[in-house]
Amino acid sequence: MPNPREKHGLPNARTLTVIAQDPSVRIGKNILLTELTVPAEQLLPGPCGYRVHVIDYDSSTNTLYEPAVYEAQQDGKYKDPFAFSRGTKGSSKQPNGYDRKLVNDPRFHAQNVYAIAMRTLAQFEFALGRRVRWGSDGHQIHISPHAFADANAFYSRDDRAIFFGYFKGASGATIYTCLSHDVVAHETTHAILDGLRRRYLEPSTPDQAAFHEGFADIVALLSVFSLPDVVGALLDLKANGNPKLIAKSRLTRDALAKSVLLGLADEMGSELSDVRGEALRRSVELEPGKNYMDMPEYQEEHARGELIVAAMMNAFLDIWLQRIERIGTVARGMMDRSIVVEEGARVAGHLLTMAIRAIDYCPPTDIWFSDYLAALLTVDREVVPDQGKYNYRKALLDNFEAFGIKQARGTDVDGTWKLFDEELTYSRSHFESMLRDREEVFRFIWENRDVLKIRKDSYIEVQSVLPSIRVGPDGFVLRETVAEYIQILTLWTGELKTVLGIDPPKDIPKDRRIRIFGGGALVFDEYGQLKYHIPDRIEDLERSRQIKRLECLAAIGFFDEPAAARPPSGSQSHFAILHRARAAR
Ligand SMILES: [Zn+2]
Repeated sequence: MPNPREKHGLPNARTLTVIAQDPSVRIGKNILLTELTVPAEQLLPGPCGYRVHVIDYDSSTNTLYEPAVYEAQQDGKYKDPFAFSRGTKGSSKQPNGYDRKLVNDPRFHAQNVYAIAMRTLAQFEFALGRRVRWGSDGHQIHISPHAFADANAFYSRDDRAIFFGYFKGASGATIYTCLSHDVVAHETTHAILDGLRRRYLEPSTPDQAAFHEGFADIVALLSVFSLPDVVGALLDLKANGNPKLIAKSRLTRDALAKSVLLGLADEMGSELSDVRGEALRRSVELEPGKNYMDMPEYQEEHARGELIVAAMMNAFLDIWLQRIERIGTVARGMMDRSIVVEEGARVAGHLLTMAIRAIDYCPPTDIWFSDYLAALLTVDREVVPDQGKYNYRKALLDNFEAFGIKQARGTDVDGTWKLFDEELTYSRSHFESMLRDREEVFRFIWENRDVLKIRKDSYIEVQSVLPSIRVGPDGFVLRETVAEYIQILTLWTGELKTVLGIDPPKDIPKDRRIRIFGGGALVFDEYGQLKYHIPDRIEDLERSRQIKRLECLAAIGFFDEPAAARPPSGSQSHFAILHRARAAR
């Protein structure tokens, strides 16, 4: 008889060794390594798994590197070919020269990108409680760890791929972008966000252009800070090394900003600032309390993206401090170091989950930073209806405001989205099929378009109907359904006034056809009742969103020429150009 364990006892997770941040972040002489827990699967050479296919082809030298090979073990366990033994402090204890060996082994580079991309994807799937698709077609995304000799890394929807470049640094050594945790997580996030909110790549306001960058940075940095190895190492950098205790005087807000945030920014390979920008450094150095959002220098998308990073990283510090306050000292002025570290990593993990879950509560088109703030606050209210022990909502509200991001209009007093409380017709749609069927949700919208305030003269399309499953505060599984619809209204310039009552911005030529976008996210509760309607409405004149969008598009010359017939790919793709512009800043 077959052993039932063989059928049911397959491991769900495995660990793989990666470089914790990048090769310049060290403990003493050694590069800081860590183990990531990623979904277990039988890997083909590459590694090639069910979501990520690493193909190590270098287009600059026309070289195809040998794939990394992962053999199954007899006992059903999966081996980490680059495993290292861990020291007592939780830091890596490596044989001499082991880290150099890893840096020089292209098969380790392949493992590094595979593991970080899979962990990032797993973090999204955990936060949203469902499988998550890439922005590009197909189930698997291709990743090239040594794609070209250039200081750039980018995701390309049309190539269905993420490319990592390499280049000679100032010291003469080769810098591999694929060995930087934050760079890999950032690019993977672009690919996932593109799958969740396809319209966020459409030309729009500075907020939308900046959001992809800022959000990818937030996910990347919180992923790194959710690793206890990294937080521990940063706290130790300037300490005199008591492995068990840490002085409470070193755990003030200023001290943590310097040791942890700025500490990591200092340690990160400076050559890579062309590739990754300076968002982490800016999050410490940017003075709070200014109206950045209206300043001309913050209309540029990279600078603007840094504002939401600064807000999130400062919220991270505030919440971590709240938790440190509750730990208590074990000896005079001293705290248990491992608890401080665990709490820091835990806060980063919580904020990461919130940051991701918030996407479900964002409008499908034309996102504004204030929408994202409302979404974050709503996510937290859903999980912790009263403020709870730690005031995450206050930390988020205060810090977003400190960097000029105001509460969205039409939200509750606490900044969360208002619960939908108008009378809707449910009797013509079926509950079961509302959970998954786009046609059924369309019918629901059609029946209720007056109450939902959806224009009758626009094209309406339901883009997705997805489950969102999470564990509620009482330990029970909570199931919501999230649907996204878009509205498109195509008008001639002159019709803006007659149809929408908008005076056309003066830079738009008279004879242009203009597509006006709108849409909404519908969140249904477990009984199929509409809980939130998060709209970006075409007729949303109160917020003047459409006017602002049209002005922004006119300013960048969007209406000057007809759009290109073929989508750009490779080095001309959206993120290739965007990331090159970041280096040029
Ligand atoms: Zn980016």
